[in-house]
Amino acid sequence: MEFVFKGKEFFNNMFYKSTRNKNVSVSSCEAITQGISVDGGLFVPSNFEKISTEEIVRLSKMSYPNQAKLILSKFLTDFSEQEISFCCENAYSTKSFDSEQIINIKKLNKDAFVLELWHGKTSAFKDMALQILPFLLTTASKKVVADKKIVILVATSGDTGKAALEGFADVENTEIIVFYPQDGVSSMQKRQMATQEGKNVEVIAINGNFDDAQTGVKEIFSNELIKQALEKKGKMFSSANSINWGRLVPQIVYYVSTYARLVAENEIKNGEQINVVVPTGNFGNILAAYYAKKMGLPLNKLICASNKNNILTDFIKTGVYDRNRSFNATNSPSMDILISSNLERLLFDLTDNDDDIINNWMNDLKENGKYEVSSSVKQKLDQLFVGGYCNDEQTLLTIKETFEKYNYLCDTHTAVALNVFEQYQKASNDQTKTIIASTASPYKFGNSVALALDIDESLDEYEQISLINKKTGLEIPEEFIKLKEKKIRFDKTVNVNQMSEAVLEII
Ligand SMILES: *Cc1c(COP(=O)(O)O)cnc(C)c1O
Repeated sequence: MEFVFKGKEFFNNMFYKSTRNKNVSVSSCEAITQGISVDGGLFVPSNFEKISTEEIVRLSKMSYPNQAKLILSKFLTDFSEQEISFCCENAYSTKSFDSEQIINIKKLNKDAFVLELWHGKTSAFKDMALQILPFLLTTASKKVVADKKIVILVATSGDTGKAALEGFADVENTEIIVFYPQDGVSSMQKRQMATQEGKNVEVIAINGNFDDAQTGVKEIFSNELIKQALEKKGKMFSSANSINWGRLVPQIVYYVSTYARLVAENEIKNGEQINVVVPTGNFGNILAAYYAKKMGLPLNKLICASNKNNILTDFIKTGVYDRNRSFNATNSPSMDILISSNLERLLFDLTDNDDDIINNWMNDLKENGKYEVSSSVKQKLDQLFVGGYCNDEQTLLTIKETFEKYNYLCDTHTAVALNVFEQYQKASNDQTKTIIASTASPYKFGNSVALALDIDESLDEYEQISLINKKTGLEIPEEFIKLKEKKIRFDKTVNVNQMSEAVLEII
């Protein structure tokens, strides 16, 4: 697809470059519509407007949709004010979220605040971005490709798939196809996807893991035969994975929003530095925190928490990214990833936009499964990030102990973050106030949570869920109750090498 760029001044001096070709310059509408750059790179904004202390004061008095408008308008400079308002108001309402405030903050103790990002339709943090992406994408594509129908291709480790399906179901002028690893998602996640309603949705399991699904989808994106077939039908591909800028930019909002709320509630002083812990897979969520910091939000350490697939822990420690290791299926499956796509955006930034170096490293990763960053990048990593991980047993123990100590129930992914936070505090003696990103409802990973709470393993998941509810008093999201009665609509499984064929058939 060719875009005609309208000149850098046109959009308030804001444009988007590719991490693999810094001479690319497209508008935000083009970046969001296209998903990924033709050179295989990811789109990044040319500059990051600052958030001032006065703005934090203003933000602290705003509703979530209004906060989102203010932050998004700093990046989506070719959207009109009305368009941004339309997107934010439709996405962040009590129609789609079971919390008036959209995000909930739970104070665990004097320095730890759990940021619950899972009050959307599918009970995972992916809703924060995927409720708004369809609005952003349809608004953007109308401006740049007029009447083309957008086909969204998704590879999912479980949560993105359902959240994207829910976001795009029956959205005019879109179709969505989701691929997930047959044995790589929780039973609740599988059921959520297999029962998805909507005329424009398709869900397919693959024999392989998430990385296989992601690689397969990337190949389909650049498959000429499929592209031509699409073209003939007046359709084009786009992506709902966190490689799409439209997925990432809404995630910056909740870090700013949380900071402003902590200021409003007198938990922190305006300007006080705080830390953030993020349970990390594809590096999207923690990259959004990094971007918020880059905009001047007073964030100090960004603590990257992994499960046994601890490639990022090693990377932060050594500066070597090495995927030549075995893939572990863990009880925090949404983080079972060995290729964290969004790291490329961080590296582009830390090398001062050196696209040659990024091309070399990404080529090394493709050819040899590894790359090593320069010492200057390593130094910056050391200043910004802390990496840590824990295994499945520690994850379950953290769920149990957090419940016993604070009467707070968390899911397995959040437990990984809490565990790594505890390790960090012990090792560093850092008493900085900290936000812990909580990425899923405990009921989404009911089997594991039940195991952690010593609930009978042999029971079916619905019985387990109801026992968790009895034991903890935590309300079960309505969606999970309804799920039991829903009809299975999709049960197709294909091999990895049949993915493109499957896509051709559907389109
Ligand atoms: C996707 C996901 C993550 C990982 O987020 P990234 O942005 O990919 O790093 C963590 N926890 C849950 C529950 C998720 O769904």
